[in-house]
Amino acid sequence: MRKTSNDELDRLDQNSFCEANKIPVVVILDNIRSQSNIGSFFRTCDAFRIEELVLCGITATPPHREIQKTALGATETVAWRYSPDTVEVIDELRGKGYLIIGVEQAEPHQDLLVHEFDLSRPTALIFGNEVDGISEEVMNCVDFAIEIPQSGTKHSLNVAVSGGILLWETYKQYRMKNKNWR
Ligand code: SAH
Repeated sequence: MRKTSNDELDRLDQNSFCEANKIPVVVILDNIRSQSNIGSFFRTCDAFRIEELVLCGITATPPHREIQKTALGATETVAWRYSPDTVEVIDELRGKGYLIIGVEQAEPHQDLLVHEFDLSRPTALIFGNEVDGISEEVMNCVDFAIEIPQSGTKHSLNVAVSGGILLWETYKQYRMKNKNWR
């Protein structure tokens, strides 16, 4: 076995990425404290070609050295914007027909183990602060919560890891249903 070279991976360049169609998912970061987590979200959002990343509240914005360390350039490809107010972003997206999902340990919740995303509808996924989770005000606005099941000793996952899991699952389900999407 040999490892694939970067050339063989044949990735999109920046312009082709901007023009390419995206999966109908917007990611909202609600008060994320760690810049390396924010950078990780950029990298994952690039990989799975999502529509937009919305950085809310205390979430830091590019350009920033610490974000760059984990984003590795994805701040130049992923469409992003900043909003001080997460609820305002939710209201705006809901007005445009988005389904609003809080990715959180909450009751009641949908279990990611069995959840089928309805991606015929654009969807916003919200992730919360490393210590406090998604704020209560925001939890009161979501259509429902999705929880990633865990079987170990720790209460929760790192937020950027949760992002990787959720975005992989939505990307996988979208591609399985849209076989011609590239
Ligand atoms: N909610 C925890 C800590 C937050 S973990 C607490 O209050 O103690 C940071 C963020 O990661 C959460 O807001 C959520 O978006 C995500 N997260 C972590 N583990 C998760 C899980 N098992 N299911 C869903 N989301 C999770």
